[in-house]
Amino acid sequence: MPASYYKFQFKFVDADNRALGYTGRQAHVSREDGIELDGAVIGYEDLADTFLYLNRVGLVLKPYLALPRHLTQHLQPNSPVLLIEVMEGLAFEIKSAVDQNRSNLYLARRQAALEAERKGAAFRRINCPRCDSGVDLTHQATPYIYCRYCETIFDQYRQKLPRCDDYKICPICQYYGRVQNFPDTRFYLWKKEGRASYRERYFCDTCAQRLQEETRLKNATLLVGLVSNVYLQNQYSTGRNPDLAELSQANRLAQDGDMKGADLLYAAMTLRNKDNPGLRYNYGLAYLQNGDPKRAFYQLRESLEACKNYEPARQLIQFNRRVEVEKEK
Ligand SMILES: [Zn+2]
Ligand SMILES: [Zn+2]
Repeated sequence: MPASYYKFQFKFVDADNRALGYTGRQAHVSREDGIELDGAVIGYEDLADTFLYLNRVGLVLKPYLALPRHLTQHLQPNSPVLLIEVMEGLAFEIKSAVDQNRSNLYLARRQAALEAERKGAAFRRINCPRCDSGVDLTHQATPYIYCRYCETIFDQYRQKLPRCDDYKICPICQYYGRVQNFPDTRFYLWKKEGRASYRERYFCDTCAQRLQEETRLKNATLLVGLVSNVYLQNQYSTGRNPDLAELSQANRLAQDGDMKGADLLYAAMTLRNKDNPGLRYNYGLAYLQNGDPKRAFYQLRESLEACKNYEPARQLIQFNRRVEVEKEK
């Protein structure tokens, strides 16, 4: 059976971030129709986007979509998003199966449109080596290709960017870096205030370092807190890609306004990783945030020279063009 067929169990996640119910509900990803949740089918055409967070999948629906009542009541507040918790640790597989179908639908339309213009011979596609979604390769001849579904960067031989499996745009600081789950433990007695809480956070090494600095004094008051902070520090500072060893520090300097210091580190890494679109994107973002748009756009263009469909760099350029237009009005 192809990977794009899946039966699985899930729970709806409510506005307070709680998974509802004791047992899972039935769901099905099919090749033809769409994703079926609790007996109601949401067609692939009606999905604007999907996202993954820990063991949860977010289904972003097109705004006009009329849903049956038993699904409408589970929409996230003020947004057309259904958040489901996938059981048995299959969230990535389920999201990928949905994305394979969505991407096939998009690419079939793209091919038909090109054929209608008698340019069908130019159509090219490739499957992502990580999530197996289809990526449009028409008119794209840069060293790297970006999968917008799972954020993997790979080449035309489907080789992923070396040692970059966990490297992507951080959902918190928007810099490219190593993104993973970190423990956020608050276990302390501090100035008559006691606290014992734990949750998982999903962000980059730079954000993890900030969390460690924010909590270390308080957590040092109790052994449990102290140990968890040592663990956190060890997690964000070890096991990095040696080619991008200074990345977290460079991002931190840039975010804190020390562009001189960041510049030295980005320049050193660029020598070793000339074609890494994520690194070039960071270099551009850092210059933008530190008031040097000219250098920023040079780096963002270099990012697209390495990977023409690298969405983060394209979006940053577009966003800043719009800001400039607004300023001129
Ligand atoms: Zn992918
Ligand atoms: Zn971050």
